[in-house]
Amino acid sequence: MKVIFIIIDGLGDRPVPELGNKTPLEAALTPNMDFLVKEGICGMMSPLGLGFTPESGPAHFEIFGYHPFQEFYPKRGPIEALGAGFKLKDKDIALRINFACLSNGKIIDRRAGRIKNVKIFEKDLSFCLENVNFILKAGTEHRAALILRGENLSSEISNNDIHKIGVKPKKIVPLEKSEQAKFTAKILNQYLEKTHKILKNHSENKKRRNKGLFEANYLLFRGGGRYKKVISFKEKYELKSCCIAGTGLYKGFGKFLGMDLINVKGATGGKDTDVKAKFIAAQSNLKKYDFIFVHLKAPDLFGHDGDFLGKKNFIEKIDKNIPLLRALKNKGDVLLVITGDHSTPCSIKDHSGDPVPILFSGKTVRKDSNSKFGERSCAKGGLGRIQGWQVMPQILNLIGKQKIVE
Ligand code: ZN
Ligand code: ZN
Repeated sequence: MKVIFIIIDGLGDRPVPELGNKTPLEAALTPNMDFLVKEGICGMMSPLGLGFTPESGPAHFEIFGYHPFQEFYPKRGPIEALGAGFKLKDKDIALRINFACLSNGKIIDRRAGRIKNVKIFEKDLSFCLENVNFILKAGTEHRAALILRGENLSSEISNNDIHKIGVKPKKIVPLEKSEQAKFTAKILNQYLEKTHKILKNHSENKKRRNKGLFEANYLLFRGGGRYKKVISFKEKYELKSCCIAGTGLYKGFGKFLGMDLINVKGATGGKDTDVKAKFIAAQSNLKKYDFIFVHLKAPDLFGHDGDFLGKKNFIEKIDKNIPLLRALKNKGDVLLVITGDHSTPCSIKDHSGDPVPILFSGKTVRKDSNSKFGERSCAKGGLGRIQGWQVMPQILNLIGKQKIVE
């Protein structure tokens, strides 16, 4: 039996008065997901345990059985660097970068006027400093990833991005007393100074200046972390897996676990992403893989914007395309699992510790009497309350791959 596992980012929500006190998921017309619930079993899942509010990264790790607080967690820098296409080596330090605009010593735009692409700067910003190789790779728009490769490095360093404009950028400081952290902070500050000079004089920025656009002349760092290879998903579960995602973080997450990345045209990671194309990709890769992870980012983005109608409409768009996958399940050899990685209530425009609905649909499932995919209906489901770490064991149980505990 094969698995299609869909994570709808930020799926859970709280009642919205304008939606008649329903959540966006409850208000959405979702006949297809409702049917999956009817043919399956549902419940509520707390990714890190009830009440804990996760970022997407730790939530995904926990749900896939990699415990970020007990075991190794690389933080966002290395995950996004993998997503940007870096091949990382053990001990590499990776950071997320925003190209920003600095003027008279102050940050005046954190995204350099949402510059379309920063690939043109890659080469000039990749060089060696005190025997450490700095390598920069462009991401989407103003984003990039930076890796530091060398000896005596530490990931225990501060960010220089304080998410504000009109202020001086912070200096990078060591977050622990080790020589490695002091050294890493020192060379990063040198790198910042040097790259600011290079960028100020770059022909591309001269062009931007002449056009009255924000220059991309300063680098903001965050999410610094150290890369370490971990046991792959394949080794851990004996399942050949692939990842279908649009956003760098989730592509990087898939790569970190050793999944194959399936690039889908139209999978933007944004609100305009092509859900149908992603599901078709899942369908066509089912022969080759045992476990297909499909990630959909948009509901989280709508949640952060407080756009409950947008969130509701996007959930309906997902639902419209579910028959593509249900057809596979009907053949009897596919388990469909749908859940979120956390709640992103529109009312608070941020993540919360509220549990998210989860459904398992397939021939081995012991059906419950539920027939609606929603927060409060799933709270009455046959699975009851589960935690993130219990999702993978339950999947293994349902596909007949769980080992007996002796
Ligand atoms: Zn998330
Ligand atoms: Zn979010």
